[in-house]
Amino acid sequence: MTERFICNGMLGKLCKLMRLCGIDTEYSNQGMKILLEARRQGRIILTRNQRLSGYESVFFVQPLKPSLQFREIIEKFNLADELVPFSRCLICNEKLQPINKEIIKNRIPYFTYKNFNEFALCKKCQRVYWKGSHYQNMLYDLEKTLGKKIV
Ligand SMILES: [Zn+2]
Repeated sequence: MTERFICNGMLGKLCKLMRLCGIDTEYSNQGMKILLEARRQGRIILTRNQRLSGYESVFFVQPLKPSLQFREIIEKFNLADELVPFSRCLICNEKLQPINKEIIKNRIPYFTYKNFNEFALCKKCQRVYWKGSHYQNMLYDLEKTLGKKIV
């Protein structure tokens, strides 16, 4: 079974990188309440908060740089083969649904409509995603850090 995670307040960027690669990662800035949330939802806590160290299911993230934090998690939990980019909303962690671009034509810039073909929708926040240059650049940076392709 794939691990599920919850990042605490200091790790917002790491949280987004994990969602970018499809890893189920919630976010909490509710201080020590994260312990209850994690237990209720069966998640591993990722944190740099010393107050949380020593608790059950807490993993203390060493690096300061988000891409290096990401690499540490991938290696520690052996997730390299389980990454599914473009499958999860960066904002609310919901699974994305592929969507035909004709349906959302009015909601995206014309340039985007013309130049890209793969679109996905978050049913929860209604945000539309596409595999544009921003997305490709984020992925490319992660691949460079990991030293391997993310497919
Ligand atoms: Zn969303």
